[in-house]
Amino acid sequence: MFFSALTVWLLQLYLGLVASKPHKLERAISGLKPQLSSGAVITLPWDKRWDELQIRATSPRLVPHYSVVVEAATESDVQATVALASRFNIPFLAVSGGHGWTSTLDKLPYGIQINLRKLNTTTVNHDGKTATVGGGTLQHEIVRSLFAKGKYTTTGLCECTSVAGPLLGGGHSYLQGQYGYVLDNLVSARVVTASGELVEASSTKNPDLFWALRGAGHNFGIMTSFTMKVYDVASNWTAYSILFASDKVEALFDLVNEFEEPSSKRPAKMALTAAVIRLPPIDPIKPVISFTLVYEGPEHEAAPYAAQFQALGPISTRISNMKYQELYAATHNGLDAQPCVKNNNMVGAGISVPAWDLKGVREAITIFGNLSADPRFSKSTILLENYGMQGVRAVDPSLTSLPLEERQLPGLASPILFWEGEDEQTTQDAHDYVRRIKEALFLGVDKNNGTRHSYLNYANGDESRQELYGYGEKLEKLVRLKKIWDSENRFGFYNSLV
Ligand SMILES: Cc1cc2nc3c(=O)[nH]c(=O)nc-3n(C[C@H](O)[C@H](O)[C@H](O)COP(=O)(O)OP(=O)(O)OC[C@H]3O[C@@H](n4cnc5c(N)ncnc54)[C@H](O)[C@@H]3O)c2cc1C
Repeated sequence: MFFSALTVWLLQLYLGLVASKPHKLERAISGLKPQLSSGAVITLPWDKRWDELQIRATSPRLVPHYSVVVEAATESDVQATVALASRFNIPFLAVSGGHGWTSTLDKLPYGIQINLRKLNTTTVNHDGKTATVGGGTLQHEIVRSLFAKGKYTTTGLCECTSVAGPLLGGGHSYLQGQYGYVLDNLVSARVVTASGELVEASSTKNPDLFWALRGAGHNFGIMTSFTMKVYDVASNWTAYSILFASDKVEALFDLVNEFEEPSSKRPAKMALTAAVIRLPPIDPIKPVISFTLVYEGPEHEAAPYAAQFQALGPISTRISNMKYQELYAATHNGLDAQPCVKNNNMVGAGISVPAWDLKGVREAITIFGNLSADPRFSKSTILLENYGMQGVRAVDPSLTSLPLEERQLPGLASPILFWEGEDEQTTQDAHDYVRRIKEALFLGVDKNNGTRHSYLNYANGDESRQELYGYGEKLEKLVRLKKIWDSENRFGFYNSLV
């Protein structure tokens, strides 16, 4: 007993406190090396690739304090690393896309980064209806692999995030109107749990874990691979990029609200997204709204919907026809686009609403006008998105731990602030702007005495658990399951349930 306690203490000391003494730290993890596959790589702070492996989308704002990085090449590498970490009480964090922006990630005091990027294969299964996906696969990888076989699935809007990260908290997608959220398309998962055990989770195997993974998954384990439903690519897409001056804000969001009314004949194949941006060559004083209507189908089918927006008198309209995989670059969400840039200070916040409150949106845009005039934040944006809810609402809400609100509220907003440099004042100003924009966009909800819901994957880390995981019984069940699957809260660095 005494010896194991001593070992734990020594390991913590090596990993956390005396990381500057290379030979000691090396000794501490040398026990792991023989257990790993030949493809796994251990990187220590004095190794050449260390800095490269620390870079996150949100660094330097968020820098989890790793003492060692283990790049896992097989699921047993993940298992061995988690088992060692749990045995010696060493904190750890899985990393796939590195695009998580919630501030709770920064609470990792020291410990192991379990990098999953080598687990990046996508294989369409013989049934042609499912694909098996590696736990560290990125969106651009799955999209291209599936497309080569004439398939696609509910992927998110940016090429650079992982598939697993968004899935575990929901996963908004251009395809959600037809097929539900990314997590609604999960068929099964192979999961390394807190003890280092590898289990399968599906509707028949460990169904409670399967339920918890789909909505609060970051809290329950590491998915080394998973099986998702895939679909035959049906047709090309038509995209309308419509630019509005800021004086059209009320008319524009009034019309978007009409599309979300229960009586609306909104097609499931259509998604509506808006980004408030600064574009000085078009308007040197005020922000503009870059509005996108994407539709899976030919232009003549999309045209009647787009015509309603064009009738509002935009500055310009650009129409293009393309394949699903080309939508990423066309909507400025490709690998080279601003949202995908790494090592870029960034902060956001999730705001889910039943309808756009026009006064609130106007106020948010006024605040944005001031912030984006400040050169420190000129690349920032506010996203105001309505992806479509038919597919999402078609799923029985009790099947997943995803909060009910996430299936009910069609409007999803987030201020996204980018800035360079590390000075405290700028960081504080960024958080202050985000808070003010969030308050403005929740005006309508507050006015109607509603409860606030924030999308887990857009959370900035200061929300209550109810705001993220819901106000009903699901949260209680999640907490009960957490005690069973991860009683020590080892998976506690992404908006912890407990
Ligand atoms: C540019 C950009 C675009 C985005 N677009 C969308 C979008 O279209 N739709 C949407 O819903 N959200 C979107 N988001 C939000 C996104 O869902 C979250 O930021 C998500 O956490 C990113 O996951 P990641 O793997 O890239 O990041 P990471 O920081 O690597 O991971 C985030 C969290 O997931 C955990 N995790 C990662 N992989 C695994 C795994 N295999 N098993 C268990 N846990 C794992 C990590 O430990 C961490 O806690 C976007 C974010 C950004 C920055």
